[in-house]
Amino acid sequence: MNCPKCGTPNDDKAAKCAKCQTELKRADALESYQAIAETVGGLPSLNVKDNLYQGLAVGVGTVLGALIGLVIGGWQGALFGALIGLVGMGLISGFVLMILGFTRRMKKK
Ligand SMILES: [Zn+2]
Repeated sequence: MNCPKCGTPNDDKAAKCAKCQTELKRADALESYQAIAETVGGLPSLNVKDNLYQGLAVGVGTVLGALIGLVIGGWQGALFGALIGLVGMGLISGFVLMILGFTRRMKKK
């Protein structure tokens, strides 16, 4: 990572900047980002499993929406349905991940 103070590229595992000795609080920053991402829901999570789950849910929603739209309204319906599926599943999975993240943090305490 780059030093937040002077911008010097440092080893990811380095605890302090090689140039200015600023402490590199990488883990802390990531942890707080993750906490915010889980609380807000819409932000991309740093948890790989969560991202896979969300990607899968959005993918399935898009395909399902396209199929339903195709049956109802032909190709235009398919496009419209895919859009609805994409946005809808994005919102729903974000909401589910928000609750999951909240539950996880409650268990940690
Ligand atoms: Zn530095």
